Amino acid sequence: MTTTDPLGTGPSGTGPLSNWAGNLVFGARAVHRPRTVEELQELVRRSERVRALGSGHSFSPVADTTGDLVLLDGLPTRIEIAPDARSVTVSAGTRYAELAVALQAAGLALENLASLPHISVAGATATGTHGSGDGRRSLAAAVRSLEVVGADGELRTTSHPGAVVHLGALGVVTALTLDVVPAFALRQHVHLGLPLAQYAAHLDEVHAAGWSVSLFTDWGSDTGRVWVKQLDDGTPAATVPGARPADAPQHPVPGMPTVHCTAQLGVPGPWHERLPHFRPEFTPSSGAELQSEYLLPRPAAPAAIAELRALGARLAPVLHISEVRTVAADELWLSPAYGRDSVAFHFTWKPEPDAVAPVLAAVERALLPLGGRPHWGKVTHGPRAAAYERLDDFLALRQELDPAGKFGNAFTNGLAADRT
Ligand SMILES: Cc1cc2nc3c(=O)[nH]c(=O)nc-3n(C[C@H](O)[C@H](O)[C@H](O)COP(=O)(O)OP(=O)(O)OC[C@H]3O[C@@H](n4cnc5c(N)ncnc54)[C@H](O)[C@@H]3O)c2cc1C
Repeated sequence: MTTTDPLGTGPSGTGPLSNWAGNLVFGARAVHRPRTVEELQELVRRSERVRALGSGHSFSPVADTTGDLVLLDGLPTRIEIAPDARSVTVSAGTRYAELAVALQAAGLALENLASLPHISVAGATATGTHGSGDGRRSLAAAVRSLEVVGADGELRTTSHPGAVVHLGALGVVTALTLDVVPAFALRQHVHLGLPLAQYAAHLDEVHAAGWSVSLFTDWGSDTGRVWVKQLDDGTPAATVPGARPADAPQHPVPGMPTVHCTAQLGVPGPWHERLPHFRPEFTPSSGAELQSEYLLPRPAAPAAIAELRALGARLAPVLHISEVRTVAADELWLSPAYGRDSVAFHFTWKPEPDAVAPVLAAVERALLPLGGRPHWGKVTHGPRAAAYERLDDFLALRQELDPAGKFGNAFTNGLAADRT
């Protein structure tokens, strides 16, 4: 199944707009697709409640509104590489898949990508989306500046550390300037059967095995599978002690077609064809799912693994799969990795909300006391803002930039109450 337009519009193509996963129907009173930035500015100026939507891949209602919802894929596409080739300016609706091809053609790259390239640059930035890798920061940390239509309809440029991961609450972003690096090649190997006890004891060594490393498990089986994406620099294939190299391609979700995945078995390829787990022309992950994720301070990893293993018998039946990644600290106020090197525990749930809810509650009871910060774009059981220590600063910035709450929605308006 291909995914040219992940946003659902009902079976007839004319129904209400839903998110990629189909767990949310947006409550917008009107959906707009401006063709120019000036048209967008006029819309924002006139609207009482307005919010932008990216590619709709968030599972949480972070993008929802009862006012005007704006899709930016009708604006002229911009992919402008700076003459010194150290940055690129992209229109907000650009997806990583499209940007990556343009950068690679110019001999350039982004330092990291998420598990899927289907998402928009603006939407991923807004929620602090991340990939994996020791020393690799969130995708938002590549942002040098944002061009934003503010509440008064004026277009401004900002690099404020509180305004990069913004949950759509500070304005409508029209373009982003990102750091780029010289293009690089990677090889990807999967290693099977790593005992989770061994993983917990040697987590640092496992995650140091490559540029980007992920562990997949269902927590019930006592073992995990490790995806190692390493630089194609002539060094031998990394080993993962305790695990055996796979001799056939693997999909992170058992039983899903491996043709959906980027090439494995050590075949070298450009960065953008190895960093994501999933290829842009196919459905990422399972397609029928919900997701949750918590970023913890890295030293909490062994305790978190012990807690999740203890929940294994409850987790495995409701999970498609769970993934553990590492993310380097950044300085962006609402980034889940703000101020601390992090380990991220991700859960791809079966689309069974009633069965998932009590297990998710148990996961939060285990991970929140360890400092877990929930991913803004994914599903939670309880309040999500407590571990975000710069939340008050963000809310003050929001009050200054948007005193009437034009860009607010139920999700962002609830954050102040959420923090207790
Ligand atoms: C299969 C799958 C795999 C995923 N893998 C990962 C992963 O590897 N790592 C990870 O961290 N997350 C992952 N996610 C979550 C996903 O990256 C985030 O939810 C991301 O925010 C989605 O981007 P989007 O373009 O769909 O944004 P949307 O969901 O459309 O919007 C997200 C937020 O951005 C705001 N926004 C969007 N565009 C603008 C704009 N132009 N101006 C102002 N605000 C804007 C919206 O209002 C909203 O608040 C995954 C999701 C799916 C479905």
